[in-house]
Amino acid sequence: MTDPRRATPRTDVVLADPRLRAAADRVGRQLVKQAVRTALDRCRAGEIAPEEVVDEACRHVPAVATSLRDVVNATGVLVHTNLGRAPLSKSAVDAMVMAAGSTNIECDLATGRRASRGRSAIQALKSAVPQAAAVHVVNNGAAALALTACALASGRAIVVARGELVEIGNGFRIPELLESVGANLREVGTTNRVHLRDYAEAIDERTGFVLKVHPSNFVVRGFTSSVSIEELATLPALVIADTGSGLLHPHPRLPDEPSASSALTAGADLVTASGDKLLGGPQCGLVLGRQDLVERLRSFPLARAMRVDKLTLAALEATIVGPPPPVAVALSATSRGLMARAEALAEQLAHMIEVSVVATSAAVGGGGAPGVTLPSAAVALSADLASPLRIGQPSVMGRVSGDRLLIDLFGVPPEKDELIVRAIAGACRSRRTA
Ligand SMILES: *Cc1c(COP(=O)(O)O)cnc(C)c1O
Repeated sequence: MTDPRRATPRTDVVLADPRLRAAADRVGRQLVKQAVRTALDRCRAGEIAPEEVVDEACRHVPAVATSLRDVVNATGVLVHTNLGRAPLSKSAVDAMVMAAGSTNIECDLATGRRASRGRSAIQALKSAVPQAAAVHVVNNGAAALALTACALASGRAIVVARGELVEIGNGFRIPELLESVGANLREVGTTNRVHLRDYAEAIDERTGFVLKVHPSNFVVRGFTSSVSIEELATLPALVIADTGSGLLHPHPRLPDEPSASSALTAGADLVTASGDKLLGGPQCGLVLGRQDLVERLRSFPLARAMRVDKLTLAALEATIVGPPPPVAVALSATSRGLMARAEALAEQLAHMIEVSVVATSAAVGGGGAPGVTLPSAAVALSADLASPLRIGQPSVMGRVSGDRLLIDLFGVPPEKDELIVRAIAGACRSRRTA
């Protein structure tokens, strides 16, 4: 018998296989060559037979030409920054795919003339938030705030409470952002308390605006006081509210989370927010409010450097006018419904692995609704499955708690439950063969 390792096929012969040629048309030759190399190495090592090389190479070709992977967010953190924040709705994805080609982003098809960019997404936002006379969209929440500070307070002072000098995450600090665009901070109050008179005393002819920042990732308890937008609106200065999470309207489950409509009704001149937190849309920053102020922002030179692309505008519009996005759907889940799903999952898994069902507490995460816990349910597995599940296909990211891995269903759309069962079955197999 000949040694199968000596019969290892040549690279060019493998690459000529029709299935791998089709794969190269899909994701490019480079990734296919890599997959073939991996398969040939296994063949030379005697791990697979020569006639299995093409099958094996096909298995190693990624589905898309990016190393980013589809991840099932079973962490129990709904808006998870490390997992790309809000997952988009199907209608937002469809809109993005359509807009990926040439599209009439700045063109009126009726006349063939130039038209204002993103007008339909802006119109959708204005219809959703009638309190906003005008809307502008930029790249993210930080850009919305930076543009506002630049256009309205460069070389001037921003009056802000000490307790609202927030660090959002990954070292992003709102006070540093404001100072970096040439605004001076006029801090008022103490860490735990601020009063209307503190603001009133700080306002003078150098004031650009008063800023109200939502402490979106922490809570202060005890001897505290802050000043509402209603009260700030009585001061002789512009009031800008950085609401953060991007709720357009109050949410019954998140009573302390400010919304664009409530902040504008309360008297804010402008509201800034993120599009990819609780709004559930693509990464972008929203500025909503007074027509004249939005116009000043829009025509400010820096606005061009923060311009959103057509994909974002398409996804944003579809998020607003389309069916509720996954974040909104998840927020309406009941603990009973989640528990029933966890039990169904456990039943399907019981024959292959030790599994139990546990009640858990999920969180909004990602800069929204701090301190709010949402009753949820998870299946609990052995913690040594965390790694195989993470690197599996699809990747499932749970939460390790002690010696258990919790697969929390709060952020998982029900239609992905089946995928989780398959991923766990795959992880069990890889653990057995390891
Ligand atoms: C998240 C957040 C920001 C920053 O928004 P990005 O979209 O992350 O740039 C600013 N302010 C508040 C209050 C936030 O919660």
